[in-house]
Amino acid sequence: MNSMNPTKTTTSACPKCLRKVPAQVFERDGRVFLSKECPTHGADVALLASDASLYWNAGPEGGKGCCTSNHSCTMIFEITERCNLSCPTCFSGSSPHLNWQMSFEEFERKLDALLAKGKRDSDMVQLSGGEPTLHPDLERMVALLFERGIRKVYVNTNGIRIAKEPDLVKRLAAIDGGRDRLQFYLQFDGFEERTHALIRGAKGLSPIKRQAIANLHEHGLYALPVMAVTRGVNLDEIGAVVRMLIEHHPKMNTVILQPAFYAGRYENEQLVERLTLAEVANEVSKQTGGLFLPEDFGPIPCSHPNCFALAVAFVRDGKVIPVSRYFPKFATWKDPAIAPTIEKFTDRMPQHMIETLAEDDMIDSLLDLMGQSDESANWADYKNFVLIGIKPFMDAHTYDQDRVDRCCVHVIDREGAPVSLCEYNTLRRPRGLL
Ligand code: SF4
Ligand code: SF4
Repeated sequence: MNSMNPTKTTTSACPKCLRKVPAQVFERDGRVFLSKECPTHGADVALLASDASLYWNAGPEGGKGCCTSNHSCTMIFEITERCNLSCPTCFSGSSPHLNWQMSFEEFERKLDALLAKGKRDSDMVQLSGGEPTLHPDLERMVALLFERGIRKVYVNTNGIRIAKEPDLVKRLAAIDGGRDRLQFYLQFDGFEERTHALIRGAKGLSPIKRQAIANLHEHGLYALPVMAVTRGVNLDEIGAVVRMLIEHHPKMNTVILQPAFYAGRYENEQLVERLTLAEVANEVSKQTGGLFLPEDFGPIPCSHPNCFALAVAFVRDGKVIPVSRYFPKFATWKDPAIAPTIEKFTDRMPQHMIETLAEDDMIDSLLDLMGQSDESANWADYKNFVLIGIKPFMDAHTYDQDRVDRCCVHVIDREGAPVSLCEYNTLRRPRGLL
């Protein structure tokens, strides 16, 4: 299948034995694939992009990312293996039957060691799991992170305790103190009960998710819905989730769409064709009646260009006006000095849009937003905008060492070392927990 000239060569992994093997990325019929051959287990070909125009190569002029080799935009602490769900799609293999949790003392020790080794410039710490709200010291951990000067703390949650225990939300809000520095990545896969039953293996989750959002909003905390998008299950709910974002604006201003990937307890590669970033971008366009266009999505100058795509719209009097289609795409960005280039972006905008933006002093705000160079930018600060992010994590089928080498989203492993989340999930997560 890869008889054509490869777009690039890289290193990937055998999905069976996880041995690292040479790989080629190549384009065929407008789609992009990654192919490799394990000496023991044979060939494997994975779809990377269903629309080659939304697969961005990091050419010699760019793609160096914002990150030095020691920089982590995001540090993720998995503070417990335990969860109150056992999702069939769980990449960490968590469940109610697991009991390991990181003690507060271990958390403090690891955090301080990382800060001493130069991680003070990390923008964001995520507390994850398992389900981090089950950890008895969650509140102390959040407070400690702020004491140590971490600017933003995200709790990655399925929302069950957030929905059922408003007092917990109230206490967490008190720790934040109205500074918008504590936010919640809320697992939100759609509205249909069938969706939750298939992706999460549980009943009755739909009202729980809505209650979680209501409780967070009541206490002035931000929820960022994160949708695991799965073909044949909830692909057709993307439009409804984007409409929810717009309805809740400005209390909510970002959703993250994650195409399903095949790690941990979830291995589906042979059953359905992989969902790609490009297809999700096309679905956003289709399901919003063309309000957003696929070309609204573009890479950001952080990590690798194929690791995140963002669409930005501003909201005025309830009207949503996508603007990122006028942003310069990655190819025109010059690292590290992108600012002079992006300041020219208004040249490409229609005059009426510039006038509308100017009325509200939005241009400065927009330029400021575009200057944010990483995935952990505090987008909640940009209350006049709505943002749709697409985050395509990798698994053993799609593993591209080129992307991992530029990764700045690091999980802290059991020894306290930062490791690319995709590398950790694919190659290094302790097995036997699934
Ligand atoms: S995906 Fe999240 S909610 Fe589901 S079992 Fe894993 S940790 Fe728990
Ligand atoms: S975690 Fe994966 S998808 Fe995200 S920046 Fe790192 S390599 Fe890219």
